[in-house]
Amino acid sequence: MRFDIATLFPEMMENYLTQSVVGRARARELFTCECHNIRDYTLDKHRRVDDTPYSERQGMLMQCEPIYRCWQAVCNMTRSQPYVIYMSPQGKTLTQKKCIELSKREHIFILCGHYEGIDARITDKIVDEEISIGDYVLTGGELPALVLIDSVVRMLEGVLSDPDCYEDESHYSGLLEYPQYTRPEIWQGEQVPPVLLSGHRANILKWRREQALIQTARKRPDLLESYPLSDEDLSIITKAADDFNKPEG
Ligand code: SAM
Repeated sequence: MRFDIATLFPEMMENYLTQSVVGRARARELFTCECHNIRDYTLDKHRRVDDTPYSERQGMLMQCEPIYRCWQAVCNMTRSQPYVIYMSPQGKTLTQKKCIELSKREHIFILCGHYEGIDARITDKIVDEEISIGDYVLTGGELPALVLIDSVVRMLEGVLSDPDCYEDESHYSGLLEYPQYTRPEIWQGEQVPPVLLSGHRANILKWRREQALIQTARKRPDLLESYPLSDEDLSIITKAADDFNKPEG
């Protein structure tokens, strides 16, 4: 898989993209990622890439031409027509489902806006999809692009030791992850659930699924609205809610 990122701050991106799991995966060439400075594609002698908006709003807008030329250069260089994503607070919110979908694409071009955003004509011309990382406004698309790349890359083959590592995590199946524990067995009087020490795999798997349901019902009940709950799932959740609401003593 290949990412090309159009940004005014390639160093900011590079810093993250050379670290930790993502950095190691990139070094092992499990994916390719090139950052392109949009400023390198301006024809302006002062290397300007922005101008004032016609709406008489304060601030500056990124112009079409440098972005267009950057995109064209990537298309020519890679001899491919990448799927173009504009990181934008106006896009659909990024979800695990969308990350799974994107992880199957071969080539993605990510456009990071800055200032007041970008001239709307470039969106109409080259962008396939706008994606937001949440209903708030950041100063630029760099952090959102890194969020997207990180969440997609960890699902590529060979990046994590086993698909279980991400398939069991929150959101992959539509549920949150069950609670996790590590040593010591007892910490400040609190014991790890005995089933996890039993070594009985079937019971552990059953416990994990029940706890994932309970965790989701407690922390993010909205997720269950689109989750296909069986009668047994419902009774697990109802029983847990009853136990939770029982007065102590
Ligand atoms: N004026 C724009 C608006 O109100 O929709 C916001 C521009 S924002 C200050 C500058 C850039 O940051 C955007 O072009 C976009 O690339 C990025 N950005 C800001 N918030 C974002 C979010 N929640 N998700 C994805 N990208 C975001």
